Amino acid sequence: MDMQTGLHGQAILTINAGSSSIKFSLFLVPQLNQIIAGQIDGIGGEVRFKVKLASKSTEETIAWPSASRPQNHREALSFLIDWLHQFAKDIEVVAVGHRVVHGGQKYSAPTLISDEVMEELDALMILAPLHEPHNLAGIRAAQESFGGIPQIACFDTAFHRTHSFVDDCYAIPRYFYEKGVCRYGFHGLSYEYISDRLLQMYPKEALKKVIIAHLGNGASMTALNNGHSIASTMGFSSLDGLPMGTRCGEIDPGVLLYMMQHEGMDAGQIAQILYQESGLKGLSGGLSNDMRTLEESDLPEAKEAIDYYVKEVKREIGALTALMAGLDVVVFTGGIGENSAAIRGRILREMAWIGIDLDEDRNLNGEVNISSDASRVLCLKIHTDEERIIARHTLELSNNTTVKNKASNV
Ligand code: AMP
Repeated sequence: MDMQTGLHGQAILTINAGSSSIKFSLFLVPQLNQIIAGQIDGIGGEVRFKVKLASKSTEETIAWPSASRPQNHREALSFLIDWLHQFAKDIEVVAVGHRVVHGGQKYSAPTLISDEVMEELDALMILAPLHEPHNLAGIRAAQESFGGIPQIACFDTAFHRTHSFVDDCYAIPRYFYEKGVCRYGFHGLSYEYISDRLLQMYPKEALKKVIIAHLGNGASMTALNNGHSIASTMGFSSLDGLPMGTRCGEIDPGVLLYMMQHEGMDAGQIAQILYQESGLKGLSGGLSNDMRTLEESDLPEAKEAIDYYVKEVKREIGALTALMAGLDVVVFTGGIGENSAAIRGRILREMAWIGIDLDEDRNLNGEVNISSDASRVLCLKIHTDEERIIARHTLELSNNTTVKNKASNV
């Protein structure tokens, strides 16, 4: 046993590779106790490496050796793996689970990665050009570093593959649908975790008409009937629906035509505006994409950005309720949903007409149930844990693989 950390045994590594960051966690098998969580930020620039041990309450910043500045995900991951080998040298990583943003129309469940799967995922890159290349780079880097251990892809779109054609199509010529131009919905790993928790905590209500609001830097809402996603505010890309930190949310496509035809902007410039310069940041006049900064600001633009945010959440709760013909449960999650009592309070107070009775004290105290006992709609605040869902699927699929491999050896 490693005397320094006391960590030993077999573990699953989860990897969530973003545009310039890699989030990772280690979970001991088979109980899936999370022992380490961390993040490498600023890949390609000023890099930072933060780690939190489950046994300690504080996060530690790990210094990079000055000679090593990872320029890409492969270099960052290889540094991370070397660090893990030294720091937790008695931990054996037995499988790696990856968050993959887009699984297209085909992937409706976590999948063991093979060369054939990688080829198909490469072809899906055009559907999520800002995210998918980093996810796939993370997989390739892990394959190089870990050799033959099982690598599992867990898709953000998979949870929504229960939608009907009408819930997923756009009213454009049908051949676009055949080419994959349809609503996919995202944040599926978060929704899966929350719906599992809901089933454990409120088994009867979990199977009724539920809206989950994932309000983080990215934001979307999903309607669940009988535990299955029937509609989501995000569509073909992660731009649609609610306004986000820097993404625009719902927008008239005529605005994009205007940008092209009258402002002379090309696709790259428009993408930059819609993904990086819009949402809370754009509406607050560039002040911030962070809800905390806006809540603390006296600027009228900050107040208007929050007003627009609340208005759009209310509008989408109304729309999703109409699709389900009723509403029994609302769950808030994500950085804003979990931490801002003010935003939750405003949304729920202003939706009282739908049968919501907010309990102000419970909301301010951050309790799980924030509605009053008399409320017809149960309102909850639940912490999401996408890494744990990835670890769970990875354990399940890698166990199956081990069993199959053993069987084929007989
Ligand atoms: P996430 O993407 O789920 O990590 O959420 C990140 C976002 O949550 C940040 O950009 C903040 O806008 C928001 N956030 C985190 N803590 C708070 C808080 N205490 N109050 C308001 N917003 C918060």
